[in-house]
Amino acid sequence: MKILISNDDGFQAPGIVALYDALKDLGEVEVVAPEHNNSAKSNALTLHSPLYIKQASNGFRYVNGTPADCVHIALTGLLGYRPDLVVSGINDGANMGDDTIYSGTVGAAMEGYLFGVPAIAFSQTEKGWKHLDAAAAKARELVSQLLQHQLAADAPWLLNVNIPSLPLEQIKPMRICRLGRRHIAEKVITQTSPRGETMYWIGAAGKAKDDADGTDFHATFQGHVALTPLQVDLTDHERLHYWAQSVSRFEADAAAPPSKAGR
Ligand code: MN
Repeated sequence: MKILISNDDGFQAPGIVALYDALKDLGEVEVVAPEHNNSAKSNALTLHSPLYIKQASNGFRYVNGTPADCVHIALTGLLGYRPDLVVSGINDGANMGDDTIYSGTVGAAMEGYLFGVPAIAFSQTEKGWKHLDAAAAKARELVSQLLQHQLAADAPWLLNVNIPSLPLEQIKPMRICRLGRRHIAEKVITQTSPRGETMYWIGAAGKAKDDADGTDFHATFQGHVALTPLQVDLTDHERLHYWAQSVSRFEADAAAPPSKAGR
């Protein structure tokens, strides 16, 4: 079993070190991760500057690019083999609901999924790495069960896993969840720079809005590990018909003879 690990918090983040330590004896495990924190970089690829790969003394390879760059490069030439699983994380903070759109942790996993490799994104619900050992143990538990049941053969799939920041004995069993929704983000924060210019800082994510039973928010608030299978098709299938009808009305209007009133 060959496992590729990446993240978005950077190769030195405690979360990726804990994840590597938790998974390293489950197979051949390699780390290719961003040099710096790339949280909220989603699926961004670096197209207009060169990427370099360096190796840290612990064997981790790091890239001056995004999470998706790391997995992309690994899968398209760097590794020289196809991993059986891509695992991303463990992220410093939740990736629930709308977070998944912005998340570099999910982006790294999604890059594996887009290449047909099964992939998992792991996040802790609170920032600050509290009880990281428990999250790592939960990540190991899930990965070893997936391997034991040979679910990698049913590829590709993409799992988003959020683990409550609690001691191991307080973490409740895994729940399969849909994504919740957040309220719109907090206001942008402005400050004046030492040179008198206005600086803008992106505000915090909104609080949970849809945290109904069955969502990732609900499950983790209750102390459960939340597992959401994700897909990438953003098509609004329910509205295909609505838009087909609307567009045919536009076309009918355009084809109609001009009215008497003219212009
Ligand atoms: Mn992050």
